[in-house]
Amino acid sequence: MNKELKFDEQVNVTKPKLPPFQSYVEKIKSVWDSNWLTNNGPIHEEFKQKLKTYLNSENIELFVNGHLALETALKTLGGKGEVITTPFTFASTIHAITNAGLKPVFCDIEPENFNIDSSLLEQHITEHTKAIVAVHVFGYPCDVYKIEEISKKYNLKVIYDAAHAFGVTVNGKSITDFGDLSMFSMHATKVFHSIEGGILSFKNRDLAETLKSMKNFGINSHNDDIEMIGTNAKLNEFQAAMGLINLKSIDEEISKRKKIYSIYIRHLKDIKEIAYQAELENIAHNYSYFPILVENNKLRDFLFEEVKKYNLNLRKYFYPLCNDFSCYDYDSKQTPVAKDISDRILALPMYSDLKEEAIVKIIKIIEHETNIFNKKMLSVLY
Ligand SMILES: *Cc1c(COP(=O)(O)O)cnc(C)c1O
Repeated sequence: MNKELKFDEQVNVTKPKLPPFQSYVEKIKSVWDSNWLTNNGPIHEEFKQKLKTYLNSENIELFVNGHLALETALKTLGGKGEVITTPFTFASTIHAITNAGLKPVFCDIEPENFNIDSSLLEQHITEHTKAIVAVHVFGYPCDVYKIEEISKKYNLKVIYDAAHAFGVTVNGKSITDFGDLSMFSMHATKVFHSIEGGILSFKNRDLAETLKSMKNFGINSHNDDIEMIGTNAKLNEFQAAMGLINLKSIDEEISKRKKIYSIYIRHLKDIKEIAYQAELENIAHNYSYFPILVENNKLRDFLFEEVKKYNLNLRKYFYPLCNDFSCYDYDSKQTPVAKDISDRILALPMYSDLKEEAIVKIIKIIEHETNIFNKKMLSVLY
């Protein structure tokens, strides 16, 4: 290793953004006056209104986290059946589907943007198919128009795991415009956060009452009876306060990340073993992550291990694939593209206060260790 490149402090892939301490304290002060801590309090309501405007969505409901929001959304489908989804996602997507009593059917992904391959969707549709659960991986929108076309043709619901896609637009339209329902995660490590939190944005306004009831033990506003099996997934006032403050600076946050993205690609161009995602036309991206695709699995694993000596923690994100988890009985052989991507993917640090100096250092470390790897491979050959 090259000692000069070592970071003094641990550098991770994400770093939660905290607003100025005083601004948070001021926002939560009213909780001590109102004594209203959770259950649709005034800060929750203010947050909800502001999110409707920002996401350009008429119907949203807030949840304690993204996972329970997604699980609740899936339960509104009612009954058993199959959903077509991707293995290249966070464990949450597949657990939510399974916990909702549905069976995930894995469709392979596109090698360019790592999203579900819409050209393969139809071959997975059976009489049991209820919905398509697609993920806007790393904030890059799925093939939303094709997915809409297929869902109409077969009368399927479309639920987007938009956990990574807060603030993204397609042809100037909010990402919430696509699908029946979209879930956003507001976890501390996401682009936009409320400590923990989840948002469901949906088209059918009648769902609002159902979702409100489901996240509050099935309790409803019209009678004493409990008509459905609910859960507890309410967002509290302290989360809403954090979200409201962070929402004020979200555009600034995204533009800082855009700069970081451009610094990365400027420097990475010279390393031929590394590929990265190009900017897409007509998409306003949120630069939620900076994934790279390494030439082969051996080099990926080598880099992942070796960079730790520099106090640099990269992430194999997403690895392993969900259809390789031992808690389930599926097989990644059926999704060869996803398997290949998952074996070569590596996420680099991406957060707004990442300095140019640090980015340059990260790239030098990768370059240096790639050269060491290549020399090793050569010595094995000869
Ligand atoms: C973060 C994440 C979730 C879960 O969101 P939480 O708010 O952490 O519960 C679901 N799906 C994906 C793809 C995620 O990255």
